[in-house]
This record gives sequence, C-alpha cells and structure tokens, in this order.
Amino acid sequence: MLPAPHAWLTIDRAAIAANWRAFAAAAPQSVCAAAIKADGYGLGARMTLDTLAAAGCSEFFVAHWAEVAALGALPPGTRLAVLHGVAAADMAAALALEARPVLVTPAQVRAWAQTGRPCDVMIDTGMNRLGLGPAEALSGLLDGLAIDTLHSHLACAEDGPGEANARQLAAFRAVAARVPAQRRALANSAGTGLGPDYHFDMVRIGIGLYGGGHLPGGERAAPVAGMAARILQLRDVAPGDSVGYGATFTAARPTRLAIVDLGYADGYARSLSNSGAAIAGGVHCPVAGRISMDLTAFDVTDAPPLREGDALAVDFELAAAAAAAGRSEYELLTGLGRRFERILR
Ligand SMILES: *Cc1c(COP(=O)(O)O)cnc(C)c1O
Repeated sequence: MLPAPHAWLTIDRAAIAANWRAFAAAAPQSVCAAAIKADGYGLGARMTLDTLAAAGCSEFFVAHWAEVAALGALPPGTRLAVLHGVAAADMAAALALEARPVLVTPAQVRAWAQTGRPCDVMIDTGMNRLGLGPAEALSGLLDGLAIDTLHSHLACAEDGPGEANARQLAAFRAVAARVPAQRRALANSAGTGLGPDYHFDMVRIGIGLYGGGHLPGGERAAPVAGMAARILQLRDVAPGDSVGYGATFTAARPTRLAIVDLGYADGYARSLSNSGAAIAGGVHCPVAGRISMDLTAFDVTDAPPLREGDALAVDFELAAAAAAAGRSEYELLTGLGRRFERILR
C-alpha cells in the first residue's frame, strides 16, 4: 500500500490547451510554438507536450539536451528545438537525439556547420543575453548554414508597446532581411500581445500556456495549477500567543490555526509568510507566521468547521500569489516541489 499523499497539485490540461488556442488565434499567420523548458514551467513537460500535440501544436522548445532525452519519443508530427544550442560537450548527444539546436554563439555556429544538419539561430537584438550580435550574424559566419528558424528575444515585452521593443523589432528586421532562413520568430507570450508586427512566422509561448500573464486580448490566461494540502493539526491559540519560527505572528483574538502539510520545500515560497492564504468555504484564511520547510499555519478562525485530515485549498492564483510573495509568476511555477500528488484534469 502506498502512503497517502499530503499535498495535491491539480493541473487543468483543458486550460493549457485553451490558452494555447488563444495565442494561436491571435497570431493566425504564425506557427504557435510552446516553450516546455524547466519541466514545462514546473507543471510537466511531457504532459504539456502530449496535451498540446493533441490540440494541434507542432513545435516545442526546451533549454537543454537532457530535457530532450527526458521527454522520450515525440508525438507524430511534432518537432523540438533546444534554446541553449549545442556546447562542445553536448555534440554527441545532439547528433543522436531528435531535436535541432538554436545556435547561440559563433563557436556553436562554426562547430554545427561541420555537421551539415539544419538548426535554428538566435540573434541578440539588444537584450545582451544569448545570441549572435547583428554584426556577427551579417559577417558571413552564417553563409551556407541550413537555418530552419531565425530567432530573437524581447527584453521588455511585458512592459507593452514602447521604444525598447520597437528598437529590437527594427534590429531583428534588419538582420532577418539579409539572413536566409525558412522562418523568423521574435515574440514570447507577452510579445505576442504587442501585435502582428511582432508575430513573424512563429511565436514562442511559455508562461501564458501555464496560466501566467495575459492572453494577447488582455484578459488573464486561464488558471492551470491548483494547490491543496492536508490539515495535520488544528489548534486554538489565545490573544498574545505567537506562531512559528521567529514568532512573526501574534494572535490578536482567540484564533484557530490549521497546521498544514505544505512548506517552502514544496515550492510554497517562504516569502508568502504572513501574506499567502488558503480558502475554505469561500473564506480567505491568511498564512499565520513564517512558512517552514514542510509546514504552514493558516488562520482558519472565520472558516466553516474543518477537521484534521481534511484537504485545505491553498490560494495559488498566480497574479495574487506572485504579488503576495514578491516573486514572479515564472518563479512560483518553476519552483514547485516534487512531493505533490499531481492530479491531471
Ligand atoms: C522561455 C522562452 C520563451 C517563452 O517565454 P514566455 O515569457 O514564458 O512566454 C520564448 N522565447 C525564448 C527564447 C525563451 O527562452
């Protein structure tokens, strides 16, 4: 007999598919590719691959070759590319695996050119993170390379229209006009919302698939992940009693606490101490005190009656949780721990 789970993560696959369809519909002339790096932003790369392949998505991106190997065989009609390209140490794996690299340095371009195989190339148009600068890209280095997709990436897409995005767009257009490639791609989730000028032949969607950020129409992406954890103990404390490490919460009234089997080791960010919440019977139940590695106390005084052993729903609405935690939605998702019982809907 397996031990009973203590914390649950529900994952709404229909919401992932619906979010993908919303991006695909907003960029109808473009391939709508999915970023499934970091184990599908913490929610499951293989699950996302299968869910979106069934919805009609054909192009996927990971960061590393180990992620390619972990995915296993691709569904029919789908393709995969590796955003960090191919370092010398990855070359043997890259030649054996079913994916193409997104080459990001001149050294990678020179090494891959020897293979004669197709690849993508990343152009750095101002973010100064990864990729060939425009001058390097136009130096002749790329001559003869079989480029599937020429990429760049926006630094300030989340800020909406503005000079930084316009400058990167112009820089990308200038390079794309002179480098032969089958396709060109610039926008991530937020970049897709900047409008058709930014869509090119492909958009690369990540966070929006997983319920973070906004759809191109401006509404929030449909929530994907829900969280719950078991109430290990209910305890009543008196006014003046303090709770948890550092005694950072002091009861101002007779207070009922639910001590729940969830902590920062599960990715319930420690910065949600005294700022996160659970929800019981529609009642907001704030975190009381500091979040421990494996335990969190919620103030359930105003909630309908609860029992030890009950599952308590934790508010993991990404925008609110990110604001409460002072962390990005990306961090909250990719930081989710491995101890959850994952329930696919
Ligand atoms: C991760 C990533 C994306 C997806 O970004 P989101 O903001 O999650 O949509 C797109 N392009 C590149 C190059 C990335 O690394």
